[in-house]
Amino acid sequence: MAQPNGVYITRPALPPLDEVIVHLERIWETHKLTNNGPMAQALEEQLCDSLGLTHLTLTSNCTLGLIAALRALDVRGEVITTPFSFVATANAIVMAGATPVFADIDPDSLNLSPRTVAESITERTSAIVAVHSYGHPCDIEGLQAIADEHGIPLIFDAAHCFGARLHDRSLLDFGTCSVVSFHATKVFNTFEGGAVITRDPAIKKKVDRLINHGIDDEINAPEIGLNAKMSEFHAAIGLAQLPYVSNDIARRGALVARYLDALKEIEGLCPVRPIPEHLVPNNYMFPILVDAAYPLSRDELFERLKRDGIFARMYFFPLISDLPSFRDMASAARDTLPVAGDTADRILCLPLFPDLELKAQDRIIDLLRAP
Ligand SMILES: *Cc1c(COP(=O)(O)O)cnc(C)c1O
Repeated sequence: MAQPNGVYITRPALPPLDEVIVHLERIWETHKLTNNGPMAQALEEQLCDSLGLTHLTLTSNCTLGLIAALRALDVRGEVITTPFSFVATANAIVMAGATPVFADIDPDSLNLSPRTVAESITERTSAIVAVHSYGHPCDIEGLQAIADEHGIPLIFDAAHCFGARLHDRSLLDFGTCSVVSFHATKVFNTFEGGAVITRDPAIKKKVDRLINHGIDDEINAPEIGLNAKMSEFHAAIGLAQLPYVSNDIARRGALVARYLDALKEIEGLCPVRPIPEHLVPNNYMFPILVDAAYPLSRDELFERLKRDGIFARMYFFPLISDLPSFRDMASAARDTLPVAGDTADRILCLPLFPDLELKAQDRIIDLLRAP
């Protein structure tokens, strides 16, 4: 497909329309539009089967899934989290009634560092919310050891992680809970959507209730809840997308290999590539760090690419802890978050999506070579 007017950071994948229509016809036959109808049930089952997960609750998006997971685990007080993420991570903590405490990231994985988490724990800490940024895994064992030592839950904002596997297990299958996003911009999309994943049936039951107004049945509403259900329409999109996602991931992988190859020759541009052993990556994004050895700063490179219609993304920038809602918190001070600060100032994600044309990618690479 021609991409004449600019190359954006991503271009959502869509399944063939006639395959969507087949699912929509079922909805028009049954008149079941939401509330865990047959489409949602089928998608839940297919996701569990194909990813090898125990329990999964579909949600209307990842943010509401995170809020429901935090409420299900009765998280209050302080929650240690990363400033190097999309703002939804910290927003969800606040919306769930807790206070984020930012801890610095590890310079290799760019994820929450177990060392800084351990230093930030107080008697008020009630949970750790870590992010596997770009689908690159956190030091799961290190974080889990701290969570276990203090008897607190470890929740992964696994928004980026669909399709990634670690030690032959889905990256969604770690921690007390993981929450994934099916937003338009992610590896697998239902336009808007998400899911909460857990191995604990009691947590699954709580999340199911919380995303449906806290009600059990027509006359019993034992707790306050949300409406965070996935509609049948969105589930139908998911059913139509699912057969194509592994092919999409493979195409992303081929483009990543070409970027990596090209970057070997470009001084000052370093791929963020902490691919640990035993990771099968999902190639969600292609982040690079712009070093002093490169002729342009990150901001200049971003603008240079934009001048030629290439829309890269400074992701994650700014840090959550630099945003007006969070910057006055004690843990938000830049000098306590040196790695996150330096990373946010040098990070740039290059366009990457399954149908990115090789010609367009070559144009991007040429610009990086000779800005
Ligand atoms: C996309 C994203 C979210 C939010 O997902 P939604 O499904 O849009 O609510 C949360 N955290 C991170 C790290 C994300 O990238």
